[in-house]
Amino acid sequence: MIVGRELKVSESRTRWLLISFLISALLLLLLVGSLLHTQRTLARFEATHIELEHAAGELLVHIQGLQSSARLAASTGDLNWRQRHKSHRRAAHRILERVGELASTVALGGTLDTLRERLDEAEGLYREVFSAIVRGEVEEAEAILKGWPYVRNRRALRNSSEALSRLLREDVRSRIAVEQQLVRSTMAAAAALSVVMLFCWYMSLRRWSVHLRQRQEKEAEVRYLSYHDGLTGLKNRRGFLEAAEEAVSRSVRYGRPLSALLLDVDYFKQVNDTYGHVAGDRVLARLAELLGGELRDCDVLGRFGGEEFGVLLPETDRQGALQLAERIRDRVAEMAVDDGGYRIRITVSLGVAEMDAGIAEVDGLLRAADDALYKAKDVGRDRVVANQGA
Ligand code: GH3
Ligand code: MG
Ligand code: MG
Repeated sequence: MIVGRELKVSESRTRWLLISFLISALLLLLLVGSLLHTQRTLARFEATHIELEHAAGELLVHIQGLQSSARLAASTGDLNWRQRHKSHRRAAHRILERVGELASTVALGGTLDTLRERLDEAEGLYREVFSAIVRGEVEEAEAILKGWPYVRNRRALRNSSEALSRLLREDVRSRIAVEQQLVRSTMAAAAALSVVMLFCWYMSLRRWSVHLRQRQEKEAEVRYLSYHDGLTGLKNRRGFLEAAEEAVSRSVRYGRPLSALLLDVDYFKQVNDTYGHVAGDRVLARLAELLGGELRDCDVLGRFGGEEFGVLLPETDRQGALQLAERIRDRVAEMAVDDGGYRIRITVSLGVAEMDAGIAEVDGLLRAADDALYKAKDVGRDRVVANQGA
């Protein structure tokens, strides 16, 4: 029964331990993964963010460069400005392409397309300006640059590039928000996992302590049973001898009297044969109870096996032991154990021995008591016989 319970506790302890290990590993993975992701995102974000900000600023510079180079070419008639104009145009398109690669929102894509269209439109006007300059018609070139289509295009370009800068800022802000949300979700998941993990650790610790307590109980039970008799709860031969050694050495050291009784139930086999083994067990348990009731706290009582009991009586001489033995014999003879309508009665024979000059050890004392018991049986049972002494 205990083994089954222990096995169950041990299984459940292993299960909780396994779950807590798994969740710890998961938590660790989540935290390391999130740290790596955050680090990579931060590095990428820093680079993209800086590049986008640069791009927005540079685009404005090149758009202004386009306008000023055309204006200077028109006002001076110097076609060298055309080269400068071309390089601004190339740079502006390159930037738009790069921003298109980095941009992540649809709105940004639409603004880039509008900007490209405005630039193409402006390009058509610039081509006309430079053609007029090539033909030497500088006034015509200046007229185009002051004309309504050019002014409208300039305004549109400015609006589109401002819209682009605004969208880039929003793009950066939305990326930050996404990352913040991701970090918050990771933290929430980590917190939930931590709670589950702590619960699992708590459960496995609890199971562990139950397992420990059960083991201690079992060890205590095994220890108890190795020194006690399971049927009567009295000391067994081993427990009795251990306690007896101490009593004998104290008696020898201080020269104090010490006696022993050995008690054996008469014809107990017949009790078993007549009433059954279970009833016999009950008789033995009642007998043990009776003996315990007749003895002092300092006396040592044990069941030697079968229907034989031993008693050690410190500070008691042969005379005192004989009196006690007779009292026990009487009480047992008066005792009746009920067994389903029957009253079981028994008698006992007792051997008494006292420590004297001829006996120095437990074995000797018990042997002397056993000899006396043998004589009690021999002369008819239901009686007390004492050894003669040295
Ligand atoms: P005697 O007067 O010579 O002592 O006769 P006896 O029948 O008591 O002695 P014997 O040694 O022949 O038999 C002892 C019996 O005690 C035999 C055994 O069945 C019984 N016995 C021993 N241990 C137990 C026990 O734990 N429970 C029960 N019910 N009977 C036991
Ligand atoms: Mg017997
Ligand atoms: Mg016997």
